[in-house]
Order: sequence, then C-alpha cells, then structure tokens
Amino acid sequence: MITANEAHKIILENVVPLGEEALSLCQTLFRRLASPIFAPICLPPFTHAAMDGFAVRSGDTKAACLSSPVSLEVANTVGAGPVRATGRSPLLSNQAVRIMTGAPLPAGVDAVVPFEEAQSEGKSCRLFRSVVHGDNVRKAGEDVLKGQKILEVGERITPRTIALLASVGIQNISVFRQPRVAIISTGSELVEPGRPLCDGEIYNSNGPALISSLQEIGLEPAVVSKVSDIEEDLAQTIQQQLKYDVLITMGGVSAGDYDLVPKVLQKLGARILFHKVAIKPGKPLLFGTRGKTVVFGLPGNPVSAYMVFDRFVRPALLKMMGARQPFRERRVAEAEEELAGTKGKEDYLRGVVNYIGGHYLARSAGVQGSARLLPLARANATLIIPASQEKIHKGESVEIELLEGER
Ligand code: AMP
Ligand code: MG
Repeated sequence: MITANEAHKIILENVVPLGEEALSLCQTLFRRLASPIFAPICLPPFTHAAMDGFAVRSGDTKAACLSSPVSLEVANTVGAGPVRATGRSPLLSNQAVRIMTGAPLPAGVDAVVPFEEAQSEGKSCRLFRSVVHGDNVRKAGEDVLKGQKILEVGERITPRTIALLASVGIQNISVFRQPRVAIISTGSELVEPGRPLCDGEIYNSNGPALISSLQEIGLEPAVVSKVSDIEEDLAQTIQQQLKYDVLITMGGVSAGDYDLVPKVLQKLGARILFHKVAIKPGKPLLFGTRGKTVVFGLPGNPVSAYMVFDRFVRPALLKMMGARQPFRERRVAEAEEELAGTKGKEDYLRGVVNYIGGHYLARSAGVQGSARLLPLARANATLIIPASQEKIHKGESVEIELLEGER
C-alpha cells in the first residue's frame, strides 16, 4: 500500500493546468491568471489633488501659520473630470485654485492646502498652514508604472485584484479554464433527500456534500448522477462520463461483493495508478486515468469521502485550475487532549481548533468513525497524525489544516 505522500505525488504528476480562456473582468472572480499582467497605463494616470482644498505653489505658503495666515487670489475652480479651459492656464505667483479630490493639478502648482486649513474670502483665500512640494498631491505613476508587471501567472483573482485590473483599464483577462467534473454516487441503498426512507435505504449525503465541496473552490459539477450497484448500470453511467476532465465516483471501491468500481473502470480501459493508500479514513481511495480524463474513486463512507476529497482531489482540481500552491496551509496547534492515531497510517482526525492567546489549540470534534457525520459537521479543522505516530499526547504539537476560508 502506498503512503499519503506517494499518492499526492502520483496525482499531481498526472494533472496539469488546463488551457486558458478569455473572460471579461467581472466574470473572473476566484479564477487564476493564465498570463502575467503588465500595466498598460500608469497609476494614477495623471498627477491630481488628494484632498479638497486650494492648489498652490508651495513656495507661496512658506510664511503661513495660524496667527499669520497668507492670502492668495483664487484664480478658478477645478473638479474631477476633463479639465475645462479655465483649469489649464498656468497660475501666477500668489494665486491659488479651488481644487477637488481627483482633479488634475493645474500647471505651476505643486501642493494642496486642505479646506480644513484655509478660509475663503470672496475672490481670495486665507491659508493657516504652509505646505511643501507634493503635499496632498498624488503623483502620476506613484502607485504603478506603465509597463510594470502587476500580477503573476497563477494569481487568484479577488475583489482586490479586480480593483487593480479595472484601475488600469483592463477588460479582458486570460484565465485558466475550469475543469469539467462529473460526479457519480454509487449504491443501491441511496435515495435523494426529500422523501421518506424505505427499508434499507439511506439518504445520499455524499452527492450533495461533494457538490458543495466543489462549489467551495468555485466549481459547478458538469453532471451529477446516482447509480445502483448493478454492474451494467454502473458501467453505462461511468462510460458516459469518461468524457469529462475529471470523474469522481463515490462508493464501491472497497472489498465488498458489490464494490464494482475498480473492475468497471478497468473494463472501460482506465489505467489504475493506485488503489488503496495508508491513510485513515479513506484507505480504499483509487486514482487513475482514461485518456485525458482523471478518475478518482472515493470510498462511500461519508467521512472518508469528504476527507479524501479535501486532501487528494481538491489539490488536483486546484492545480488544474492553475493554482500555484494547491494544498491547504499547515499550521501547528497544541493538543488540548490526547489524540489517537493508527500506526502505519496517516490519520486525519476531525478536529475543533480555536485560536486563543496567539496560538492554536486543537481537540477532537467527537468520535472518529468514518460514518460519524455529527463530528464531521462540528469540525473546523483536520488534525494530522503522521503514520509513524500512534498518538499525540496532551500538550504536544499537532499539525492542523483549517477547513474553511481560502479556496
Ligand atoms: P461503500 O464504499 O460503497 O462500500 O459504502 C460504504 C458505506 O458508505 C456504506 O454504509 C454505504 O451505505 C455508505 N455510502 C455509500 N455511498 C454513500 C452516499 N452517497 N451517501 C451516504 N452514504 C453512502
Ligand atoms: Mg456501496
């Protein structure tokens, strides 16, 4: 049986970032850039007032103070927007311009005295403070220079990067394509939530959980299906869905008589790259390829399916989506109680982690069974116990990954 690290390596070796597509700016949230972005203009594009006030030649204000203000003639008024003819005539000495935030600085002036430090008096103004060159002025290019690289390949687009891109006037962006993902829940016992259960039936929880795990990283599944444990039905459904970038099956990969997924995949020409990993939960995990499609066979137990998706499928999808760092960030916490693992397997415990007094404290979210949904729902972190360790004592360090937040 291979280790978790070997499984990660095989998976990441077999997936590549998908091709690129051009989207308009507001469609790109949480996508990743397929090409670097160079600023086509500088930012700010022109030198302008950073405050509402009087634009002046700073030299004219040298003597100004509260007890002895300096008076300047107000030549005109400029607001943000295209400069009206009046705004263009160069100022003479001892003249000022009423200027509003964002308005281009007229020729000749080099600083702004905010209205709060001045007084209007008919056609002149009294300044109670001196200013020096550049005060309350934003210089052209002080934020970004024309031609400067502002975003790298693989950068995730956020509302903050959208603000930057819009500011330099970029409208079409080349981002990595999203993988088209098919998901199949297998099991003759499964029914969809919304109707009463009959004898032996259970609700399909893996299907909705997986749909939402995909949504958490910005993906909508291309197709969602549920199939019984009858080989022909399973083969037909899998065959139809081997045309997508990624196929994720759930259930039917263990050792039971009706665990038919590996056999069916093989019959359909899939190359199984591994089946079974030394992890708990999720040992039966299967990974393979068929042509350009990558296939994950997740175990059916709901906790196993969730954990295995989070740890093995999610990084693969993120790499396909162009992420530079597809793994969740690891942190170190202090164990608030003894945490039990299994020798020879990397354990992924459902944990509750709190950030208190500058460090993380971790405890188990409840009974660690692979069918225990209540602790899964209460968990906010995975606590990782290495294969070499059987337990982590109270007070010792434990590696954790928070389950929420970034995507
Ligand atoms: P399997 O991996 O198919 O042997 O399933 C292992 C356990 O998980 C069984 O108890 C199944 O009933 C259960 N199970 C399988 N698929 C699902 C699912 N989609 N939702 C909830 N439980 C499931
Ligand atoms: Mg099953």
